[in-house]
Amino acid sequence: MMMDFLLTPEQQKYQELARKFTREYILPVADEYDRKGEFPWPIVKAVKEIGLNCMTAPKDYGGPGLDSVTISVVMEEFAYGCGGIATTLGGNGLSSYPVLIAGTEEQKKLFFGILVPGGLGAFALTEPGAGSDAGAVSTVARKVGDEYVINGTKCFITTGAMADVFIVFASTNPSLKHRGLSAFIVERDREGIAIGHEEHKMGIRSSNTVEVRFKDTRVPASHLLGKEGDGFKIAMQTLDMARPIVGSIAVGIARAALEECINYVKTRTDGGKPLAADQAIQFRLADMAIKVETARLMVRRALVLKEAGLPYSKESAMAKTLAGDVAMEVTAEAVEIMGCLGYSKDSRVEKLMRDAKITQIYEGTNQVQRIVIANHLLR
Ligand SMILES: Cc1cc2nc3c(=O)[nH]c(=O)nc-3n(C[C@H](O)[C@H](O)[C@H](O)COP(=O)(O)OP(=O)(O)OC[C@H]3O[C@@H](n4cnc5c(N)ncnc54)[C@H](O)[C@@H]3O)c2cc1C
Repeated sequence: MMMDFLLTPEQQKYQELARKFTREYILPVADEYDRKGEFPWPIVKAVKEIGLNCMTAPKDYGGPGLDSVTISVVMEEFAYGCGGIATTLGGNGLSSYPVLIAGTEEQKKLFFGILVPGGLGAFALTEPGAGSDAGAVSTVARKVGDEYVINGTKCFITTGAMADVFIVFASTNPSLKHRGLSAFIVERDREGIAIGHEEHKMGIRSSNTVEVRFKDTRVPASHLLGKEGDGFKIAMQTLDMARPIVGSIAVGIARAALEECINYVKTRTDGGKPLAADQAIQFRLADMAIKVETARLMVRRALVLKEAGLPYSKESAMAKTLAGDVAMEVTAEAVEIMGCLGYSKDSRVEKLMRDAKITQIYEGTNQVQRIVIANHLLR
């Protein structure tokens, strides 16, 4: 299959829009939000003004209906500004995938009717006893008449405390393990929902990460996505869609670290010469640049396959793994090249290195991605 390396004029327009937004709204405040660990409400509101608050929402439901390559281009720009803010701005995309995968017309109207006007969504799969092994979810949804009653605790839920609507994964038949998992649309104002412990994180500190408890939370049976037992399949397809977007966040972080480093070595002198004149430094920069470009290409390839309707699960896992590892390697290299300034909170690369780590962990750790890839190879 041919892959077009060039962005279309429309995609370039969105890239420019996101770049300008990042320059004006994200970069000036990224450090402050990181330091305070505060949720970036003004940025969440501002992104609505440029129509990028729910990029996945189809035009029929009032959204921009962007293709996934465009979304990844936008997310790279946001993450170039701040990985934590990008994680927040990407949350509506993540939570919307289950609805796009399995939602009926009515469910899409309900869900996007909350998100498109400015609401926030959260994807609630992980539990204290179910991280990499999503099949171990112990939250249950019991059918009572024409409702489901949900009981259980989710943890590490991005934007959980601010969400207007959750996609909750709960078992409708625990004896069937992962085949008993089901997915539900649960609005925040339903009874029995409580926000618990808030995580204080190493990186992406402005993104909100909390425990969410459901106690006898009732939703109409019409809020079940797909059929009972479809939840595991929906979760896996969601992660296929979301992983290249995590890859884009990783690329944005790595690109920012590389640029910081380039600027530094041009001005920092050693023995009267700029560091940039040292070939050992030049080679390290070249290797960093190769990694950033390769990671972006892997992300792009996975999404081009997806847009073409071709299988892309393996490529999605590869893109996320490579990009996450690259983000970690390039930011660590940047810290090292920038020496004591790199290690100081006065430099941007210190934050970039802390932010990079999450891209190897969330939406399936890079070890889990390797399991996915190996399963494809050994079929
Ligand atoms: C900041 C943040 C935000 C998050 N946001 C969300 C969210 O919005 N929604 C949500 O549902 N979840 C969210 N998560 C949860 C995230 O997806 C999980 O942390 C992740 O899937 C890993 O699960 P775990 O932490 O329980 O690790 P574990 O499953 O306990 O794994 C621990 C370690 O063992 C390794 N490991 C596990 N199983 C295997 C295996 N079979 N073979 C080899 N190695 C293995 C893992 O790679 C990892 O290194 C978030 C997490 C964080 C940190």
